[in-house]
Amino acid sequence: MYAGIVVDVPHVDTDRAFDYIVPDELAPWIQIGSRVSVPFGNRLLQGYVVQFKEQTELAKVKDIKEILDITPPLTGELVALGHWLSNTYICRLYSAMQVMLPASLRSQYKKKVRVTSEGQNQPLLLPGEREIFNYLGVHPDGVELDLLVRKFPEQTAFLLKAEREGWVETSQVVKDKITRKTLLYVKKKVKDEQIPGLVEQLSKQAERQKEVMLYLQDHEHPLALRDLLSELGISSSAVKSLVAKDWLELVEVEERRDPYANKKLEKDQQVEYTPEQQEVILEIDTALNAGEHAGFLLHGVTGSGKTEVYLETISHCLAQGREAIVLVPEISLTPQMVNRFKARFGDRVAVMHSRLSQGERYDEWRMIRDGKVSVVVGARSAIFAPFTNLGLIIIDEEHESSYKQEETPRYHARDIAMKRAQYHKGVVVLGSATPAMESYDLAQRGKLGLLTMVKRVGERPLPSTAIVDMREELREGNRTMFSRQLSQAIQERLQRKEQIVIFLNRRGFSTFVMCRSCGHSLQCPHCDISLTYHRNNRTVRCHYCGHAEVEPDSCPSCGSNHIRFFGTGTQKVEEELSKYFPGIRVIRMDIDTTTKKGSHEKLLQQFREHQGDVLLGTQMIAKGLDFPKVTLVGVIAADTILGMPDFRAAEKTFQLLTQVAGRAGRHELPGETIIQTYNPEHYSIQYAKTHDYQGFFSMEAKHRFEKGYPPFSRLILFTFSSPQVPLAIKKANDWAKKLRQTLPSSVFILGPIASPIPRVKDRYRFQCVLKYRNEKEVLPIVKKLSDAFVSQNKKDEVELAVDVNPQVLM
Ligand code: ADP
Ligand code: ZN
Ligand code: ZN
Repeated sequence: MYAGIVVDVPHVDTDRAFDYIVPDELAPWIQIGSRVSVPFGNRLLQGYVVQFKEQTELAKVKDIKEILDITPPLTGELVALGHWLSNTYICRLYSAMQVMLPASLRSQYKKKVRVTSEGQNQPLLLPGEREIFNYLGVHPDGVELDLLVRKFPEQTAFLLKAEREGWVETSQVVKDKITRKTLLYVKKKVKDEQIPGLVEQLSKQAERQKEVMLYLQDHEHPLALRDLLSELGISSSAVKSLVAKDWLELVEVEERRDPYANKKLEKDQQVEYTPEQQEVILEIDTALNAGEHAGFLLHGVTGSGKTEVYLETISHCLAQGREAIVLVPEISLTPQMVNRFKARFGDRVAVMHSRLSQGERYDEWRMIRDGKVSVVVGARSAIFAPFTNLGLIIIDEEHESSYKQEETPRYHARDIAMKRAQYHKGVVVLGSATPAMESYDLAQRGKLGLLTMVKRVGERPLPSTAIVDMREELREGNRTMFSRQLSQAIQERLQRKEQIVIFLNRRGFSTFVMCRSCGHSLQCPHCDISLTYHRNNRTVRCHYCGHAEVEPDSCPSCGSNHIRFFGTGTQKVEEELSKYFPGIRVIRMDIDTTTKKGSHEKLLQQFREHQGDVLLGTQMIAKGLDFPKVTLVGVIAADTILGMPDFRAAEKTFQLLTQVAGRAGRHELPGETIIQTYNPEHYSIQYAKTHDYQGFFSMEAKHRFEKGYPPFSRLILFTFSSPQVPLAIKKANDWAKKLRQTLPSSVFILGPIASPIPRVKDRYRFQCVLKYRNEKEVLPIVKKLSDAFVSQNKKDEVELAVDVNPQVLM
């Protein structure tokens, strides 16, 4: 018997399954999706089993060396998905397999198996089973998995079961330091009936002990010591005395590192659904019951109760015995959001986001794989949750660009959701107040069912939105960053002790040039996007086509010399706030203030407790947050994204402004949004003002259609990087030539041009963009060419990065 194994060799020539012999003693263990180590050259490498075969064409075949997990980390479905990922996103098979697993499974390490206390107390063991447990029993520090496997080759099925039941546990040695956490539990050693009599005997001073015993009376399950102590507000000395009396005992239990475990959960409120919610829930349920693959776009304004819809349909899915994945953007994975799921589904929910430690993430993942939970709420990578009976996949805020991974494999969670749901005959729901152009287009063409919720829960009005023309402010002599209207509104909120959110829309490295007198920003004459300012040679350039001009001294539109590159930081805004509103309490949330683990939550908590008057931040605060006392949302400069060299600039502006505006007045107090801009007439701003998604969509679709951008085409971005400019240019040119020769003439090939970020880590970058419509015609050719490129070129000389359906062209 042979196994085809995808091995961790960083080269395309080796990016396929290699045949290895499955040694007899490992045979029962090795399944599709198993992680193994195999000899390769003179090294030992990690790999994934992707197929079995009776025969091999190879003359010399080596043995699989070790098996690395008891339960295979990948399912058959995920292995197939890995192949699809590799072909669809043009990446190596091995990295496609890796990306589906938590980081701690990606590096090589030894695994040790230990018996748990629960395992030791299992009476019903067959002789062989008893043998393996006895063996483990005399090795309290654990036995290396490999050793165990070779010693007890017939016990596969049992060990699998034992791991699932929690009778044994595996831990990884050294490298990732994954260790189990244990927790002390309080257990009664006396019967409930005895308790009243016993507490009678206690002395008057032992009031606390009495309290503990009475509390534990009628408590069925063992209680975590720390929960008991915090519930009664006492120290552990009373419990210790009771242990000494032998009325209680403390037992150590392995704890799931649940980062939300000691947070108080809000009670799950059963609400009466609005007619719109009822209708949407009915549609999704019907699809779930049909047991056929279906996809929906849930277009619901902020506050229309989408999350309630998710919760309700998930519970229907679980009632069918199926599982659910909920994706929310990383930044909305606030305790608030997670609590709503925990409150409804309790222990059946796993949570996965990047602020968890590796160990915590591994624990959550293991709960999923072992079938101990049936819902996962998480950021992008949770889409790969190893469920085996998926019924429902929900992507909230589906337009968010964070669903696209910006490193290889550059997948989009939306595509993965569709693919997985097809396999499981499950339902996908994409939810948003401002759907991505691509998604709404699919809904318009009937490829996704369109569900709409236009009303806010409780008929609360959408906040009124005012647009302030900052050019006018300048003309009137106001040179501060706050318009008169915003200043006055802030003053009012401070007096009324209401809260304010101030949003600064700023992105990264790029600066664009805008006239502060008329709002005109410099545009490329060929591409309809903003030109970017290059400080070193004082030019402005187009990053799509390479058009360049010298930086103008005066505005080409109105002649004013108030033309300059643009960009303001949160820190600057904070300073200005303190200057103009003495005593104002500002909570600033940006990359600088939120790097520490937990700081994000802490700042939000402070704001919720009204320790700040203003929450000031970037994209981070744009969504998912729900504060009753916020009645004013101010946007400092709505134009910053409009100026980006990005064909999605208008879409992103509209989305952000609509989301931000949705923050105010979600509760009893009416809300107001003030948007400051130098482009008040731009359609993305005008439609955001009126919360008019359809209006925006039609207008934007017209522009995209004229320029042939998605959703009316597909794109692939190729980026060449090299420490040597001439080499990068030559390779990029050769590549473009090759593409022109091989691809059908219906495919547009733009470039090569210098990348918007022309140098990263001392490598010069050039790029080339494909515009095409037919995937089947293009992807296989591109895959073949890029494999050939990679095998002919050394990475340190020139590297090619392929981004299929890029979010940004840079
Ligand atoms: P969205 O996800 O569309 O922004 P949410 O589901 O968060 O909306 O709902 C907004 C608020 O309204 C939440 O506080 C939620 O608990 C509440 N809510 C949702 N549906 C109902 C309902 N049918 N009745 C009462 N309150 C509701
Ligand atoms: Zn001007
Ligand atoms: Zn251009």
